[in-house]
Amino acid sequence: MARLIIHQERISDQQELIKICPFGALEEQEGKVIVNAACKMCRLCVKKGPEGAVEYVEDVKKTEINKDEWKGIAVYADHVDGAVHPVTYELIGKAKEMAAVTGQEVYVLFMGKDIRKKSEEILHYGADKVFLYDKEELARFKIEPYTAVFEDFIKKVRPSSILVGATTVGRQLAPRVAARMKTGLTADCTILEMNKNTDLSQIRPAFGGNIMAQDPEPSSPDRYRPV
Ligand code: SF4
Repeated sequence: MARLIIHQERISDQQELIKICPFGALEEQEGKVIVNAACKMCRLCVKKGPEGAVEYVEDVKKTEINKDEWKGIAVYADHVDGAVHPVTYELIGKAKEMAAVTGQEVYVLFMGKDIRKKSEEILHYGADKVFLYDKEELARFKIEPYTAVFEDFIKKVRPSSILVGATTVGRQLAPRVAARMKTGLTADCTILEMNKNTDLSQIRPAFGGNIMAQDPEPSSPDRYRPV
């Protein structure tokens, strides 16, 4: 979360500073310039105001993750009535490649109704374990029950990374799960690479495909746990 700090002692002309904000978010109160709720964090006042008068501060909340507690690479099995979307099998193949680097297992999260038989078939594609949630209320995709099952799976199994295909369901489900677990998500990855310490490098096209962006940046020493 970002915030602005106003250093009053560096303001020589309050009205000049207030005029800079195009959103009317700077105002004078009891002899001081304050930032009100209209602020859009555009930082124009930081750049155009008197030097050092407005400071932009980003509060970074760091959470220590014990990586030893998060093991395995999970794949979400996308299907309709047990007919598994081909992207699921592609992702199992990719997960196996990645798991080979860390010596970990590949899991598949499979949720739906009357899908037990199909879950055995998925094992033939190289998954080490299939976690099956076979329930009446999961017969059709609904965001709330599916997210709740996903959350239950993550909390119980604690995989280090999860791969979700960019299908209609995957595009709705993955961001919701990432938000629920307060973790990161990278959409539309074209290259995935697993490091020995289970950090996942995700490369995806950016700016209309003209740039390939990598997360984390190659030199970044710190890492959040990806989903
Ligand atoms: S950051 Fe932008 S919106 Fe916020 S007070 Fe400064 S100029 Fe106004």
